[in-house]
Amino acid sequence: MAIEKKQSRFLTELDPMQIDRVKQLVLASNNIVITCHVSPDGDALGSSSALCAVLKSMGKNACVVTADCPPKGLMFLPGVRDIVAATRQADRAHELFSAADLIFCLDFNDAKRIDRLSEVLLASKAHRVVIDHHLDPCIEADVIISRPEVSSTSALLYLFLWQARWTRFLHRGAAACIYTGMMTDTGNFSYNSNDPDLYLIIHDLLLKGIDKDNLYKLVMNTSGESRVRIMGYGQYRMQILHPHHAAIIMLNEDELKEFDYAKGDTEGLVNVPLSIPEVTYSIFIREDAPDYVKISMRSKGDFSVSRICEEHFNGGGHTNAAGGEFKGPLKEALQLLLEIIPTYDKYLV
Ligand code: 5GP
Ligand code: MN
Repeated sequence: MAIEKKQSRFLTELDPMQIDRVKQLVLASNNIVITCHVSPDGDALGSSSALCAVLKSMGKNACVVTADCPPKGLMFLPGVRDIVAATRQADRAHELFSAADLIFCLDFNDAKRIDRLSEVLLASKAHRVVIDHHLDPCIEADVIISRPEVSSTSALLYLFLWQARWTRFLHRGAAACIYTGMMTDTGNFSYNSNDPDLYLIIHDLLLKGIDKDNLYKLVMNTSGESRVRIMGYGQYRMQILHPHHAAIIMLNEDELKEFDYAKGDTEGLVNVPLSIPEVTYSIFIREDAPDYVKISMRSKGDFSVSRICEEHFNGGGHTNAAGGEFKGPLKEALQLLLEIIPTYDKYLV
C-alpha cells in the first residue's frame, strides 16, 4: 500500500530537537565509534560505513567497530575493509570503545545484538546515539532516533543527514553504502518499498554519482559457486506444511561442509518459498555449530514472524523479517518448530 504523504518533493521530517542534539554531540566529540549488529548485513554495514565516511569528511576521528567480520560479498563497499571486527582485533575494538566520546548504535535495538561488544558498550562513559528501524529500542542513549516505519536504517540515516544539512559531507562512496542498505533491506525495492521518500533519496544518491545498476550486480547478483549450489539444494529440500501455510528449509553442518559453505551463501534463501502463493511464512534453520542453530523467518502481510522469534528463539526483528537462535541440536530445533507452528494458525488470515 502506498504511504500517503501530505506534501510531495520534501522528505519526511524527523524530530528537529533530536537532530539538533545529535549535531551538538557530534560537533563536541573527536573520537566517534559506530557499531551495528552481529553478522552485519547490507543495511548495518551500509549505514555504519556511510556515517563513518561523513564524520571523517567533517574532520572527526571515526571508526566502525563490529562484533564479527563483514561477509566477503560486501567487502567491496567503501570503508568496509577498515572496519575493526572484535573477533579479529579484540584489543583494538576495546581501545576504540574506551577512547570514544560518542558512540553511534546503528540498525539494532538491543545491546544483546552486538554480542561480545555489549559489555564494552554498556561500560563506556561515552554519549550514545541510536539510529534504528527495529521496534521498541531498549538501549539507554542520549538520543534515540527510532523509526520502525522506515524500511532501512540507511534510509533513516539519509533523512537525518538531509535534515541536519550534512548531505554536503556525503560523497559518492558513502552514497553507495546508503543505497546498498536501502536496496538489501527491501529486496531491491520489492517489499517495504512504497514509501515515496525512498525515491527522492535515490534521486539524490544518483546525483552524488552512484552506479545503482552496478551496485545491484555486485550486491544482489554476484555469487560464488558454493552459493549457487546451496541455494538450489536448500530449495530442493524445502518442506511445506500445507495446513499451516508454512515452509521450512533446514541445512545441517555436514551439508554446509559438503557445499563448502561460506558466510553469506544462504542470504535470501529464506525468501524463496514466499513466492509460492499458499506459503504465508518461511523458516530457515541452519546448524552453525554442533549445538547452535541460527533461525531466519520471513512472512507476508500481517503475519508476524518476529512474534515467533521472540516467543521461542530468543530473537526478534520485524513483522515480515525476523531471526533468532536455538541452543541445541538441529533435530530438536525442528521438533520445537513442528510443535509450535500449529499454535500460530490463529494468526493466519
Ligand atoms: P536475517 O534473517 O536476515 O538474519 O534477519 C532478519 C531480521 O531479523 C533483521 O532485521 C535482524 O535484525 C533480525 N534478527 C536476525 N537475527 C536476530 C536475532 O538473533 N535476534 C534479534 N533480536 N533479531 C534478529
Ligand atoms: Mn536494517
